Amino acid sequence: MSSYTVINPATTEAVTDVHLASVEETDAAVEAAHAAFVGGWRDLAPGERATLLRRFASVVDAHVEELAEIEVRNAGHTWGNARWEAGNVRDCLNYYSAAPERLFGRQIPVPGGVDVTFREPLGVVGVIVPWNFPMPIAGWGFAPALAAGNTVVLKPAELTPLTAIRLGELALEAGLPEHVLTVIPGKGSVVGERFVTHPLVRKIVFTGSTAVGKRIMAGCADQVKRVTLELGGKSSNIVFADADIDAAAASAPYAVFDNAGQDCCARSRILVQRSAYDEFLSKLEPAVTGMRVLDPTDESSEMGPLISAQQLGTVRGYLDEADVAFEGSTPGGPGFWVPPSVVTTEDPQARIWREEVFGPVVAVMPFDDEAEAVALANDTEYGLSGSIFTRDLGRGLRVARAVESGNLSVNSHSAVRYWTPFGGYKQSGLGRELGPDATSAFTEEKNVFIAH
Ligand code: NDP
Repeated sequence: MSSYTVINPATTEAVTDVHLASVEETDAAVEAAHAAFVGGWRDLAPGERATLLRRFASVVDAHVEELAEIEVRNAGHTWGNARWEAGNVRDCLNYYSAAPERLFGRQIPVPGGVDVTFREPLGVVGVIVPWNFPMPIAGWGFAPALAAGNTVVLKPAELTPLTAIRLGELALEAGLPEHVLTVIPGKGSVVGERFVTHPLVRKIVFTGSTAVGKRIMAGCADQVKRVTLELGGKSSNIVFADADIDAAAASAPYAVFDNAGQDCCARSRILVQRSAYDEFLSKLEPAVTGMRVLDPTDESSEMGPLISAQQLGTVRGYLDEADVAFEGSTPGGPGFWVPPSVVTTEDPQARIWREEVFGPVVAVMPFDDEAEAVALANDTEYGLSGSIFTRDLGRGLRVARAVESGNLSVNSHSAVRYWTPFGGYKQSGLGRELGPDATSAFTEEKNVFIAH
């Protein structure tokens, strides 16, 4: 029997021990999920599936405070973030609860008869979740998958299993049949790998690092298994001189330091038009030093610690070789703390400019014109997110069309909404989650010809 001791990253104190599943236990869970698929969930009347998902949403709603409190302790998230994250699971379930009754097919007239199409569920879907947003990323996978009639096995990250375990219990409390949503805490190299190789798992939904995503994609090829990948990012916040510089500078910290920068959508590059560069930096400094970096149990905290000692070492490694222009504060103490840090550079080959730091570090670089801004923003293997600040809406749209990235915002840092598709270009991923079409991605389209 192996287990993992969950650590509170703000204090380094042990929270609880969690049993880590073996390959044999994973196999048993997958087989039970398959039996629940063929034995009921697949064939449930769409209206009944919708009712159960809505009931699951209301049970989550009744436990938002409890789930948030668990995430504050397990992941060091601020109260504000953790409440939003639990509420996002509820909202996602409500949004996709409308889908079971809207999985329409088509009729296609063909010579000699008619062809009708059906959207059939795939079977067991394996969802593999990272530690940075344990609740929302779980919900973006399981809500549309369940709505489409699949059953789900879900592996939380070893570091952050607690909210997923609780969500699995709440699903049962809401009346979902046993084994329709099964949470299996365990190691990626054991449980995650087994999802990829188990023939009864028909699709993998993976969110995590690009390196592991490539390995999963290669593994899925063996069985031509469906796969969605949401991977890393190195996104730009492009500020033109005609923008509202006060607004752009005041909001920039929240686009990169949210969740202590452990966010695939972090706008960790800021590109500022040269004529506004000094003004922007002078306004960015008080916005960064004024951030409330506090123990996350303090309701007013705006940024908490990093997730682990290992992540702390990685982020410090980047800072040691960079030119830090200014930084915010930390409460100190035993947790995994790094202050929000601003680095300036004019070297597009610098490691801090090219690599995903996944910590509270942003690199700022000047540019001269629109073409240079686009070229610098696109000079990366990633393409997940990005923001553009300008008063010229035509330019905002033009630059948004030119930046090779899946999720962009103009005069805003909004990146993820469950109503709209989410996913990356290039090595940031494959496929889209969320939005109105997500349920279809958990089905096969079947054509049936009926002769006259
Ligand atoms: P990892 O890729 O290491 O892990 C992600 C998940 O995959 C974890 O549950 C992990 O399990 C599991 N895993 C690890 N190895 C394997 C394997 N061989 N087979 C199957 N599953 C495996 O990423 P991190 O957890 O370190 O998360 C940080 C990374 O995720 C960042 O690079 C970030 O950019 C990216 N990310 C992307 C998002 C997006 O939407 N595009 C969102 C969030 C994060 P275990 O933890 O138990 O090892």
